[in-house]
Amino acid sequence: MKAAVLREFGRLDNLSWEEVPDPSPGPGEVLLRVRAAAVNRTLDIELIEGTSGWQPPLPHIPGSEPAGDVVALGPGVETVAVGARVAAMPALHCGTCSECLLGYANSCLHAGGLGRSRPGGYAQFVAVPARALIPIPPDLSYAEGAAIPQSFTTAWHLLVTRAEVQPEDTVLILGAAGGLGIAGIQIAKLYGARVIAVAGSDEKLRVARELGADHTINHRTHDFAEEALRLTNGRGVDVVYENVGAATWEKSLRSLAVRGRLVTCGTQGGAHIAFDLRDFYRRQLTLRGSAGATERDVERVRQHVAAGHLRPRVHAVFPLARLPEAAAVILERQNIGKVIVEIPQDD
Ligand SMILES: [Zn+2]
Repeated sequence: MKAAVLREFGRLDNLSWEEVPDPSPGPGEVLLRVRAAAVNRTLDIELIEGTSGWQPPLPHIPGSEPAGDVVALGPGVETVAVGARVAAMPALHCGTCSECLLGYANSCLHAGGLGRSRPGGYAQFVAVPARALIPIPPDLSYAEGAAIPQSFTTAWHLLVTRAEVQPEDTVLILGAAGGLGIAGIQIAKLYGARVIAVAGSDEKLRVARELGADHTINHRTHDFAEEALRLTNGRGVDVVYENVGAATWEKSLRSLAVRGRLVTCGTQGGAHIAFDLRDFYRRQLTLRGSAGATERDVERVRQHVAAGHLRPRVHAVFPLARLPEAAAVILERQNIGKVIVEIPQDD
């Protein structure tokens, strides 16, 4: 097969498309013919650049979130058949350690990642554990399929498992036009919550409203905390859905109602914050961190994707050879939804 091979960390055009041995699925694994794969900031772009904190041994095939067709089964696979259209979870867990057995696959003691601890999906074929698969509904493309796993499972864990979202809640979604924000809006609406979406352009906010947001705030023209308070008659929101960090922290806390919960899974806007502990305890706030997703979260996403309740949004599809352009869209925050690369097949 052919694959995009990384021989030196650094520039995204360091990848070379070359002939490599075909992978073969081990026990519990399937072989996927890859049609499309997502481009994720940390898991793909920063991994290739060498700034992600992970340095897999080189040469390496990146690509954390592929989608395609199951073409062969390894020993013991019974949950999926040859011919199935599937997308793969970037995060991999062992299923047998104490954390996995307690239901915390996202804290697996032997955690790994596709395109990180093992060869990834920027290749014509990739071997993937069967437990990491999410079926793609017939009305979704491979590109749309590749836009599902990371965003929707991370968002489910953040909003349902960690924030414990309720129908009575008002939820403030930051970064509403990114993959995670688009998933968060839909999940909050699935639970009947009222959603206030925050993004940096009118076009992004238009899409947020299409997806179900009840109110939108352009953070470039408005102080989002003041607007969140105005929209809740001065009370504040019950849940802030954070994935920015230092750049938004003060406003996020100011947006919260008494007993409000702030959940966070990202720090692309800076990792270090000042914190008024007195305000925190007097207003009885809750702060919860979130990383990855449990098997239960992933299964809920499978069910709601299959039922058509959750729909990914693809901003653009690039040929894999144009990965640097695809990455630039993400790094410049132009995307509304996920950016996807198509994998060239010989057929
Ligand atoms: Zn484990």
